Amino acid sequence: MLIRFALIPCLLALSLPTCKKSGTTGNNANSAASASPSPGASAAAAQSVAPLPPPPPKPAVDQNAEVVIFGYHRFVDKVRRPDTEITPQAFEAQMQQLKDKNIPVIPLQDLLAWKRGEKAIPPRAAVITFDDGWKSQHDVAWPIMQKFGYPLTLFIYTEGIRPGHFSGGESMTWEMLAEMRDAGVDIQAHSATHQDLRRPYDKVAKKKLSPPEYEQWLNNELVGSKQMIEQKLGVRCNCFAVPYGFYNAHVKEVAMKAGYEAMFTVYGQPITYRAPNDSLGRYLIEANKPKTFEDAVAAIANTAAGPAVAEVSNSTLSTSPANGEVVRTAMPLIRANISSFGQIDPNSLQMRVSGIGLVKPSYDAKTQTVSYQVTQKLRPGPVTVIIGGTVGGKKTESTFSFKVDEAAAAPAPTASASPSATKK
Ligand SMILES: [Zn+2]
Repeated sequence: MLIRFALIPCLLALSLPTCKKSGTTGNNANSAASASPSPGASAAAAQSVAPLPPPPPKPAVDQNAEVVIFGYHRFVDKVRRPDTEITPQAFEAQMQQLKDKNIPVIPLQDLLAWKRGEKAIPPRAAVITFDDGWKSQHDVAWPIMQKFGYPLTLFIYTEGIRPGHFSGGESMTWEMLAEMRDAGVDIQAHSATHQDLRRPYDKVAKKKLSPPEYEQWLNNELVGSKQMIEQKLGVRCNCFAVPYGFYNAHVKEVAMKAGYEAMFTVYGQPITYRAPNDSLGRYLIEANKPKTFEDAVAAIANTAAGPAVAEVSNSTLSTSPANGEVVRTAMPLIRANISSFGQIDPNSLQMRVSGIGLVKPSYDAKTQTVSYQVTQKLRPGPVTVIIGGTVGGKKTESTFSFKVDEAAAAPAPTASASPSATKK
């Protein structure tokens, strides 16, 4: 008895290293762009002005953006099953190609947030997903993804994770999944036993199912797998990838009732803002069909022509002076909260002020506030401010204007003649 009880603390101790990891690496997959503070950040912070209020909650989402989702299975040096395997070299070359073509990889959850109108995404982007829970995803492909700093979503079927019924030496363990979760990998559902969900057949029990048995079985495939992932990993599971892409209206209905926000199929197509969430197509990349990847990239590259500059509405910027405001100083401090731009490259940031031209603003990466203290008097009348920069490889701009009051701009021969000119 004593021995048996003594084992429990040992088991707890064994699981500790996994627990300790949580929070240390954080969401490193998609924080690369925001990590480096801009050179102007300290200058902006030094200014003793109150922080600008955050802009209105809804960001300016580009409803013309398009996203391609890629799905991969196994990563092996020697491809024997070209329908589900790819070499690490070929995979890495594809990830490099996305980088070379300026197609940023975004988290799957950002794609859904964009579709809800809650988050801006780049005009063209890709999402990377791995299916089934193969060990080579953890050992081989994940390090490549980390090298690129790309976010990742896994679609796993619970009986395919060790020690599940269909798992084996090539399968991931729940500990591996916990490790990936701690590093920011998104883990989502791909059923319990990975079967054609339309067929009333239980592969584990090896028997044909009656209609009520089928409903119970289907429920376990859709809801049971979701609950197991949520409980074992302490995550929110809101996405379901349909095994083989086989589904019908009933499967869809049960899945959406189960609380999934989105269902993913294998019929690759660029995802648009209004694409129905119950059937979002993914491009499954197979070693014997290298053209699939090229086609997917071409599908968004061809439509990427669009306007060269993405225009962000100034109604989503919080600015000072406010858009349309009349100011009583000819040398205002110009500020704007540009968080609705999305993830801007701080080094690309530019500000143009009519009557002055290109100026070098400060940028506080923490509050996403751009500021510039005008150092020469502006002429009375309207002043246009254009703030621009690179977001996800695309030039993005927003324009607002204010007006300098006649009196403020009048030439002041003595310093005390125009008190309003120095007022901020
Ligand atoms: Zn699968």
